[in-house]
Amino acid sequence: MLLKFLVYIILCFVTSKSRNIKKSKKQLAVMNLLKSVKQKGLIWCLVLSSIWCLSSFRYQSIIWGFFGHQRINRLAVFTLPPEMFRFYKKNIDFITENAVNPDQRRYAVKGEAPRHFIDLDNYSDSIRKQLPLLSWREVSEKISEDTLNRHGIVPWHINFIKYQLTEAFRKKDARRILMLSADIGHYIADANVPLHTTQNYNGQLTNQTGIHGFWESRLPELFADNYDFFVGQADYVKSPQKRAWQAVLGANTALDSVLRFEQELTSHFAEDKKFGFDERNGITTKSYSKEFSERYHTMLKNQIERQMRASIKMVGDFWLTCWVDAGQPDLNSLLAYQPSKEEKEAELAEKQSWLKRVLDVRKESDN
Ligand SMILES: [Zn+2]
Repeated sequence: MLLKFLVYIILCFVTSKSRNIKKSKKQLAVMNLLKSVKQKGLIWCLVLSSIWCLSSFRYQSIIWGFFGHQRINRLAVFTLPPEMFRFYKKNIDFITENAVNPDQRRYAVKGEAPRHFIDLDNYSDSIRKQLPLLSWREVSEKISEDTLNRHGIVPWHINFIKYQLTEAFRKKDARRILMLSADIGHYIADANVPLHTTQNYNGQLTNQTGIHGFWESRLPELFADNYDFFVGQADYVKSPQKRAWQAVLGANTALDSVLRFEQELTSHFAEDKKFGFDERNGITTKSYSKEFSERYHTMLKNQIERQMRASIKMVGDFWLTCWVDAGQPDLNSLLAYQPSKEEKEAELAEKQSWLKRVLDVRKESDN
């Protein structure tokens, strides 16, 4: 796109030099622009376009790998009962696009990073057994907040957002309902990823660095079109905290195969067969080869499909539960909701502030 634009500018510049070539209106407009740029200063133009190029490159590189989150939030809408479905369907693009907000703000918002994972292997067996039974208040009396934050708090955070979303439903605050629905979808999906439950989150302790993005991004991108995403209707969750822990513990039981199968398969592959080169957004990147990906995906026996399905169902279940706990407010009365100009501007400013990436927090993958 950028290349096309530059070629077009050059063509206009060349044709502007030969006066007897007939020019289109578009070309004339670009020529006039070039003329005024010449007058007002080429330097400024170059500075501004470089900033634009760099910011869009950075944005693109950040959003790589969020396919799974967006797909999960989008599909969860179809689990909802008719009383909720119309409102969510009308805002399905918002819920989908904003599924990636929590990852985008993790380097800019203090306290965001630990909300995405929990290192279960950091705790002894006896403590690990107790954790699911403790509320946030109880656990922070036993273990320092510093330790808890260092090793992740995703199950408690899901429960925390659950309360906030219930409140938003109670107040019939359309904007907060949508923002928090998108957010909780993200954290629930993270809780269902095996590598979000360990200190070895990117295979860095077992010489498997890169496995996080491989499992979470590359494989779903390659194979999700063949997954069966029909998960049925959302159900009410009696104990949200218990349910969040079930997800985390279930994902953790899948961790052994995630790491072991990759190691086994690697021993049968030469380095140049394990990896290949991919082009993304005009950038050539080293990634797992198609053959390696296919073999690994087969060994996992639908594991990624199972975890994605579990996430979709659980997201729908939590949205429904919040709505029920808020007394089942009439969402059809919110159908006319449109974000105001101020809300849109505030949202844009907030998202731009996330691009600053001021915090040196733990990365999950290579993204
Ligand atoms: Zn995340």
